[in-house]
Amino acid sequence: MAVKKMQKRLFGTNGVRGVVGKDLTPELVVAIGQSLGTMRKGRIAVGRDTRTSGEMFVKAIKSGLLATGCDVVDCGVLPTPALQYIVKGQFDGGAMITASHNPPEYNGVKIIEPDGTEMGDEETIKLEELIFDRSFSTEPWDKTGTEIQSPERIEQYIKAITDHFPGKIGTGMIVVADPGSGPACLTTPRILTELGCKVITINGIMDGTFPGRLPEPSAEGLKNCAALVTSSGAVFGVAHDGDADRAVFIDERGKFVEENQQFALIAQHICHNKRGVVVTPVSTGQVVETVVKQENCSIEYTPVGSIYVARTMRLLLEQRKPVVFGGEGNGGLIFPDHQFCRDGGMTAAMMVSLLKSTGKKLSELIDGLPRRVIIKDKIATKEGDKILELIKTVYPREMLDETDGVKIYKDSSWALIRASGTEPIIRIIVDSDTRENASEFFEEIKKHINPILEK
Ligand code: MG
Repeated sequence: MAVKKMQKRLFGTNGVRGVVGKDLTPELVVAIGQSLGTMRKGRIAVGRDTRTSGEMFVKAIKSGLLATGCDVVDCGVLPTPALQYIVKGQFDGGAMITASHNPPEYNGVKIIEPDGTEMGDEETIKLEELIFDRSFSTEPWDKTGTEIQSPERIEQYIKAITDHFPGKIGTGMIVVADPGSGPACLTTPRILTELGCKVITINGIMDGTFPGRLPEPSAEGLKNCAALVTSSGAVFGVAHDGDADRAVFIDERGKFVEENQQFALIAQHICHNKRGVVVTPVSTGQVVETVVKQENCSIEYTPVGSIYVARTMRLLLEQRKPVVFGGEGNGGLIFPDHQFCRDGGMTAAMMVSLLKSTGKKLSELIDGLPRRVIIKDKIATKEGDKILELIKTVYPREMLDETDGVKIYKDSSWALIRASGTEPIIRIIVDSDTRENASEFFEEIKKHINPILEK
């Protein structure tokens, strides 16, 4: 596949992120606004999540955009996929102030292209060059931009999702929504209610101090959500990260649904009804490929990062390949009939549709999936490149995939070893049919790389 990863200086896989006042300053965000305005002169939509520093940074990005003559439409507080939906086909670009799943002291900027996707590597590198060179096309006093406030545009997003599921399919279902005090407070309870569900909300008041739980929707953080699911008799609980492009689930027994299993279930549901290609990074659990193939669909792997998934989906469609679904094994799922970005609100609605069409409990569906065991680890080292080179020589007979790092297929297992582009660490994932095989493969890899770590 032609979509390749390129190293950036400032932006990571999903935008710029940093601790407020330390890594991420108003000066930097003004410069990002000026750069974006220089590259995408026209009408730009902006939005933010619920972080306490959001107001400061949204003003900074708008100031930069206005200085370059762009007209700005401020959509207020909303999920990232809502802003992406609004930008798609209606704007010359977008900027979302968010740090996604990071703790409250962080903030960041995600740049959105006119087609609603996050900006790809090549364009982001051009944007970074403008920031570092400070070569902005600033306008004189009589050509600066204008701003309008347009918080009602969030309704377009809610309607786009509910229109996919006519007929009040959630009637009779109790569901728990945990937006984690983030912008999905405005969307997910509404979407599920309009589908006919009876919705009970926890952490449903927007608050950038995140008093109920951290923005990362972890099993630990969702204990209260899980307790509410079992005590209310809900069919599931759904929780989002800080900007609601991801959704994770609690089953009716109060158990956290591992994200690869969630991906596999929704892939099964979609592939059962449509035949085509599912796109996902090389890091996604084997369970997804297995169910996709059982449903006579095929899988296409990409580098790790949702923009590579979204761009590959678009590329395949341009080549007239039927792309039916995409996503990552972290609850970030992409529904191409809706839009080419991860969408937590759409994922929540799709779970209602899945339960309605199968007539089964979520736990029964999970128990019916092929069993896989995943081990994940990260190791601090500056020798990432050296380790990857070594690993390739250690496994000359096994099938190796170098889409991102090195993936080694061995018997009924695989292992993925990747060096981080931003931190001095390597990440190891082992995916196996049994716990014994997983541990054995993991220990074998560590034994090979230990001599480099000890130097
Ligand atoms: Mg996110």
